[in-house]
Amino acid sequence: MKPPAFSYVAVSSVEAALAELARYGEDAKLLAGGQSLVPMLNMRLISPGRLVDLNRVRELAYIRERDGGVAIGAMTRQRAVEKDRLVAARIPLLAEAMPWVGHFQIRNRGTIGGSLAHADPAAELPAVAVCLDAQLTVRGPEGERVVPAREFFKTYLTTVMRSTELLTEVWFQASPPRSGAAWVEFARRHGDYALAAIGAVVVMADDVIREVRLALTGVEDVPVRASEAEALLAGQPLSPERLEEVVAAVKARIKPSADIHATAEYRRHLAGVLTARALRLAVERAGGEAGR
Ligand code: FAD
Repeated sequence: MKPPAFSYVAVSSVEAALAELARYGEDAKLLAGGQSLVPMLNMRLISPGRLVDLNRVRELAYIRERDGGVAIGAMTRQRAVEKDRLVAARIPLLAEAMPWVGHFQIRNRGTIGGSLAHADPAAELPAVAVCLDAQLTVRGPEGERVVPAREFFKTYLTTVMRSTELLTEVWFQASPPRSGAAWVEFARRHGDYALAAIGAVVVMADDVIREVRLALTGVEDVPVRASEAEALLAGQPLSPERLEEVVAAVKARIKPSADIHATAEYRRHLAGVLTARALRLAVERAGGEAGR
């Protein structure tokens, strides 16, 4: 199928993109890597009157160390993030999740900002952002605002951004010493969206978990932070009994839905299995005892 007719402009600055959004409002769509937008256009799921191409906006493509963490511009290609040494050293969860995003051809074009803005409920990057308490910078006609990742995703393919705003940057805190991270995912075929996946990050003090963060994708219409399960682990070693309680808490917390790929019950079961795997791996990577 071919997309419905639209007018097109390639802008070369954030200011110019904002001017287009101010002029066309709901009728405009930003084009980043096009890996989700173009299929949606071709299938006529959306029909914007104006496409605003961000691919020449160089000021939005960067990976920089800043404020004890790493700032990544919205137009940075997913493949660039995947291959970046700073990301591998400072944000290991992001580095491990990246190769799960589609196929490398998709990551060559797809951007980190496009994936976050698109807010697919089975995507990896929104859950990584929620797991790591990333900060998202959004620019609009009134200036800039910083939104914590946990407040950014509203529902299926919907974020708190207004039609006159664009995402400019995502910032991740660098992982502290004695921490371990693990991204564990199950998809039907390599490159498919996750049936379920979980990111786990722990900070250990001796064999006790000092801090823990758990976030899942594919199990609800937004990424889920498993706070109840996190509370069970803080200040505890990862014993087999504790792990069982945590798995039960995660399964009780999520509300997966059924679709042509899996039943809700299957997804819940999978989330439990992946939680146990991710936690053991994260604790081992932090140098702790993983209660096997
Ligand atoms: P685009 O497609 O250009 O845009 C997506 C949406 O975000 C549009 O609504 C656009 O207007 C908006 N947008 C883009 N940039 C901004 C911005 N800076 N500010 C505000 N709004 C913006 N993704 C996964 O996470 N996991 C997968 O397993 C996966 N598998 C895939 C398999 C296939 C076959 C394909 C085609 C895609 C797959 N994707 C997957 C999607 C891919 O990761 C996309 O790259 C991503 O979802 C969107 O990024 P993009 O840069 O291509 O954005």
